[in-house]
Parts: sequence; C-alpha cells; structure tokens
Amino acid sequence: MSDIDRLVQLLAKLPGLGPRSARRAAFFLLKRRQSLLEPLAAALAAAARDIRACSLCGNLDTADPCAICRDPKRDAGLVCIVEDLADLWAIERTGAYKGRYHVLGGTLSALDGIGPEDLHIDALAARARDGGIREAILALNATVEGQTTAHYITDRLAGSTVQISRLAHGVPVGGELDYLDEGTLAAALAARQVVKS
Ligand SMILES: [Zn+2]
Repeated sequence: MSDIDRLVQLLAKLPGLGPRSARRAAFFLLKRRQSLLEPLAAALAAAARDIRACSLCGNLDTADPCAICRDPKRDAGLVCIVEDLADLWAIERTGAYKGRYHVLGGTLSALDGIGPEDLHIDALAARARDGGIREAILALNATVEGQTTAHYITDRLAGSTVQISRLAHGVPVGGELDYLDEGTLAAALAARQVVKS
C-alpha cells in the first residue's frame, strides 16, 4: 500500500469522514505541506506522546492527575459522572459546574457486548468507597443505554454514603411546549417543581 493510500485509509476512520471525503482531506493536506500537514503531524505526535488518561477521573490531559482533579478551587466531594469526554467538555463549556468528573468511557449495552468490566465503573466504586465523594451526579444520555447504566451505577453505589442525583429532564430553555416530543414533555411533567405550597 502506498503512503497516500495509508493516509487516506487512516483519515477514513475519523468520525464523519467516509473514503471519499478522506481522499479530499488527504489531498488538501498534501497541497499545504508547510501550513497544515507538518504542523498537524507535529501536533498529532505531541498528543500521542504527552496526552494520557487521568488515573482518577479518566479525563485526558498532559498531567496525571489532570488539571481538573488538581484544581483546589473545585469541590472534590462533588463528582459528575459522564459517558465520554465530549460530555465533560459540554458541561465545562457551561461554566456552571465547579466539581470534579468521572468519565465512564461508554455506556452498558447488551447489544454491543459492553458490560460493566468494559467501563470505568470499578474505579468509580473505589472512589466512592474511599469516602471522598459526597454527591455523584449522573449526567448520562437520556437513551436506553444511558438510563440502564445510571440504574447499574445507582445499584453499585447503594451501600456507600454517596448521595446520587441525576440531571433534570424537561423543557429546554427557550423551548415551546408545542414542539416538544412526548417523552420530553412526560419527563418534564414527572419532574415538576413546586412553586407554591
Ligand atoms: Zn482527573
């Protein structure tokens, strides 16, 4: 296989890139050797060399423990449990969360053969056992797999002193009731809050 074929084949493994767009991306890179190809190759090499998973929470960083776990201004007793890094980044972008995280690395899925041993659940149970966690927030996707995983984790932490909460499901900010799907509206009704009693 030629080097170009190999480049195209690797690029085609990226999310959102099929073989055709991978070929376009490869030629785009090769035509911009100094401005793009070489800096990208250097950045990829540095990432492969220096970025690793935090041994506490599973976040990716050049340091272990990661910057979030080391930050003394964050509440170490509050841990937000997410499926993957993209979810951690999404919550960080809100700027509204000042606790720590636990990245599971996926969700339980009988269909895909993903069991508890394939996720970072033992590490979470160990963190809970060590007594450092006061509250765990289940921030998992509102999918069957996400909710199955949430139930499993709740069971696993049942014997600990950790308080477990989950994200509210409901009407999105700026949302109009008429446009919501039935599942969201039903969840919003079930999770209604008292405004006067
Ligand atoms: Zn960490």
